[in-house]
Amino acid sequence: MSTLRIAVVKETAASERRVALDPDGVKRLRAVGAEVLVETGAGAAAWFDDEAYQTAGARLLGRSELVAEADLVLSVGPPAEDVLGALRSGQAYLGLLAPLTNPELVMALTGRGVTMISLDGLPRTLTRAQSMDALSSQASVAGYKAVLVAAEHYDRFFPLLMTAAGTSKPAAVLVLGAGVAGLQAIGTARRLGAVVSGYDVRPAAREEVKSLGAKFVELEAGIAAAGEGGYARELTAEERQAQQQELAEHIARHDIVITTAQVPGRTPPVLVTAATVARMRPGSVLVDLAASRLGGNVEGSVPGETVLTSNGVRVIGATNLPARMATSASQALSRNISALVIHLVRDGALTIDLDDEIQRGVVISHGGQIVSPAVAALCAPAAGVGSSEGRLS
Ligand code: NAD
Repeated sequence: MSTLRIAVVKETAASERRVALDPDGVKRLRAVGAEVLVETGAGAAAWFDDEAYQTAGARLLGRSELVAEADLVLSVGPPAEDVLGALRSGQAYLGLLAPLTNPELVMALTGRGVTMISLDGLPRTLTRAQSMDALSSQASVAGYKAVLVAAEHYDRFFPLLMTAAGTSKPAAVLVLGAGVAGLQAIGTARRLGAVVSGYDVRPAAREEVKSLGAKFVELEAGIAAAGEGGYARELTAEERQAQQQELAEHIARHDIVITTAQVPGRTPPVLVTAATVARMRPGSVLVDLAASRLGGNVEGSVPGETVLTSNGVRVIGATNLPARMATSASQALSRNISALVIHLVRDGALTIDLDDEIQRGVVISHGGQIVSPAVAALCAPAAGVGSSEGRLS
């Protein structure tokens, strides 16, 4: 049997500096008998040089030769046009591919007979899948970095400082949404010396926020919105309005507000209205981690931009923060990806087995068919692709 060839391509998306596999990841995949091909310069932006990959046992190649030789191609995000155009039937492509928001990519890969594997589909509550959980690892980096971004834009100290030149009050930080990113933001802001509060609609978040030494914000509206799989459910219109109104009082009292609230498959909820932003003190900073082309948690936030409001509040639409901490984010992603690849390799070959719960989550298409029911439902009406839902149930 021929050796499994796994290729790592250089990311080309604007401001993406991460790489799918670091030199340690190369070693892990070599240990299961795979050959690893790395595009020249693939890790440079995350400070992993070509020599480190070679020392780890990778073969360095140019982009087109690498894609031509590969059985499995690894990347952080969706394939660039040139890579997509070069992929052929029987190859597999693995990354954070966001199939639910990118049906065109699903159709393109499926149409080419390429097996599409996306880390976003991982069943995150399975204990044995935790080492593969790229959503968590990247959210954690984003939560940490959000605090640093806020600190950079805040023209005061975070900690209480008593010096001969006077005393500075500690910054009051509020984190809305206390999932993976939010909890990391709370911990980081605390370590910088801020006075931190947290809020979430999932009742389970209360104890987690408190265990990090932060105060939990209780709303009189008493909204409890735990949904499926540890996520929040979407609020009703009345709940949303009550939440926005009550939160406004808390937000206006804080110097820094970091928002991380998401509901799977829905546009992010607006937690901070424009009227609330207008009540904040000059010099306050809002970091909206949910900002995307779908919307955000802060009314008026613009993805990728910092908006200065007329009352002197900076509203930061933070997109892809993990790419701005490329080394740590890539190291974590590399561990997640290598763990998943090792799970997919049996007797030295990539083996698709849809009876396996992990594979059922991550394998989006295989053998020219969309095999993920959720993704098939999204793509089928538009494109007339046959769903293979029956095979999965
Ligand atoms: P997420 O990114 O979907 O959302 C971030 C947070 O926003 C969540 O905590 C959510 O409750 C909150 N939120 C949503 N709507 C809100 C609203 N209107 N107001 C306030 N907050 C709102 O979630 P996530 O961070 O990926 O994970 C959510 C939960 O799943 C966490 O409890 C996490 O620990 C859990 N999780 C468990 C595992 C596991 O069991 N291994 C793995 C991953 C995540």
